[in-house]
Amino acid sequence: MNTRILIIGACGQIGTELTQKLREIYGTDNVVASDIKKSEHEVFQSGPFEVIDAMNFDQVSNVVKKFQIEEVYLMAALLSATAEKNPSLGWELNMNSLFHVLNLAKEGVIKKIFWPSSIAVFGPTTPKQGTPQYTVMEPSTVYGISKQAGERWCEYYFNKFGVDVRSIRYPGLISWKTLPGGGTTDYAVDIYYKALENGAYTCFLNEATELPMMYMDDAIKATIGIMQAPKESIKVRSSYNLSAMSFTPAEIAQSIQKYIPDFIIDYAPDFRQDIANSWPSSIDDSVARADWGWQHEYDLDSMTQAMLENLKNKK
Ligand code: NAD
Repeated sequence: MNTRILIIGACGQIGTELTQKLREIYGTDNVVASDIKKSEHEVFQSGPFEVIDAMNFDQVSNVVKKFQIEEVYLMAALLSATAEKNPSLGWELNMNSLFHVLNLAKEGVIKKIFWPSSIAVFGPTTPKQGTPQYTVMEPSTVYGISKQAGERWCEYYFNKFGVDVRSIRYPGLISWKTLPGGGTTDYAVDIYYKALENGAYTCFLNEATELPMMYMDDAIKATIGIMQAPKESIKVRSSYNLSAMSFTPAEIAQSIQKYIPDFIIDYAPDFRQDIANSWPSSIDDSVARADWGWQHEYDLDSMTQAMLENLKNKK
């Protein structure tokens, strides 16, 4: 496959693993990684890398033209907890970067866009259990507001200009290769590090906070899966609900105790508790499963086993 791809925000939690996988599939030279800062991670030493600011249209456009890019994966964003601390940057980065790539596609310079949305598009008035694809959406965070607006713009550009933009509402993502970048579900990564280092963890959410989560391997599979699906099968042009598992901090602790019996957890909720309280507990993703064949692989225990094994080997 010779498709030429640009990943913007490639050095983050998702972008690092996405770059690696896309290079395996499409060939190293066909996949250009870019970020506002360079990363020491080995994947970025192996192929083309450009430093660009996703908020600067000329910088994005120049790299797209230089490498004759056909598909863009836009991963640069300010995440939920960080955007609450810097609302104007959260809004500007999350919206301007999206407009830049949507406009490049509108002009026919690029052919296809992947843009990630989030469960943060939902809010306190959304049904919490089995949240459906179409439902009340009144996000109460800067991040959620930017993601919901982004979804509306994606659908608008598809309807008005035929822009082939595809999107997933990621749940909290758990991975071992790269640390998360300031989200409300970051505890579910940190807990594995602390379990191995100290056998103990203090969680910034309370024990009963149930949130939708997914292991990174499944998230990468979904991301590439939706981009490779035939155009006709992508019927939702805002963003698809996507789900694998839901658990509370107490349940992930129990899962870890199956492998580290002496592991202990305690709780010190902070400002992220309010963000978590506004999000769904579980997601109904039957539309994604029906439209483009989405299927997850990992549940809580298989993810715990994979996380602990991989983190042990990483040391
Ligand atoms: P991250 O914070 O780990 O990575 C974002 C990357 O963007 C970083 O490498 C950062 O340096 C880069 N960046 C920041 N500002 C930039 C700019 N101006 N120009 C270019 N690059 C810039 O985020 P992530 O977890 O990899 O998330 C990627 C996308 O997925 C985001 O849109 C995020 O909202 C979405 N998402 C992530 C999760 C999750 O659990 N990780 C859940 C839901 C949605």
